[in-house]
Amino acid sequence: MSGPSEPLFRDEPYLQSCEAEVLAVNDRGGIILDRTVFYATGGGQPGDTGKLLAACGEVEIGATVYGEDRAAIVHVPTSAEKLPEPGERVQAVLDWERRNRHMRMHTALHLLCSLIPYPVTGGSIGAEESRLDFDIADAGAIDKEALWEALNALVEADHPVTTRWISEEELAANPELVRTMSVKPPSGSGRVRLVAIGKDGEIDLQPCGGTHVLSTGEIGSLALGKVEKKGRQNRRIRLRLES
Ligand SMILES: [Zn+2]
Repeated sequence: MSGPSEPLFRDEPYLQSCEAEVLAVNDRGGIILDRTVFYATGGGQPGDTGKLLAACGEVEIGATVYGEDRAAIVHVPTSAEKLPEPGERVQAVLDWERRNRHMRMHTALHLLCSLIPYPVTGGSIGAEESRLDFDIADAGAIDKEALWEALNALVEADHPVTTRWISEEELAANPELVRTMSVKPPSGSGRVRLVAIGKDGEIDLQPCGGTHVLSTGEIGSLALGKVEKKGRQNRRIRLRLES
């Protein structure tokens, strides 16, 4: 939180563009801004793409990642031919269609997680398809049809999605909040961001640094892929947005 780049996407996930100052351009052409709407790869969610409108023209951004110390957010251009200058003001514009799909998908994975009472061992979010891996020894424990119905019912009920911050001590005192074994909740600054679905998080409540939609109805209808066996105990469940 205390890095040089203010992560506007954290409190304002619907912001599609912002004005910012170029703080630095690293030796690989990565552009660091003082503030940004571009989500940096993390927690299974891909970093954003889009463009920077600079004095030199449009600079296409093909990826967004955290710098080595996880403080700076680095916008990686698709070409190093034209780059903005440090000190310059630019307009950062998201590929909103892609990011909004990530928000819908990410929220859908929280819902999926809430319906399957097993530890999550991995996952990844994509604009077309996402997946979660669960530690389930008995594959028969998953009734796909019932799962699909329950999932779409949670979407249709249009539950609110909210975020709040708790201290690291509170999280340590409530270890059951952490569902995902493979992704460490964003922490280190003394506080942890909690994402709650439903009133008081009655549907799902867990630490997460990603971007989500404001209500589950925005996800739209979902399709479930087949449940795959990945290793002795792992079951992989795939999810697609139907529109
Ligand atoms: Zn999340």
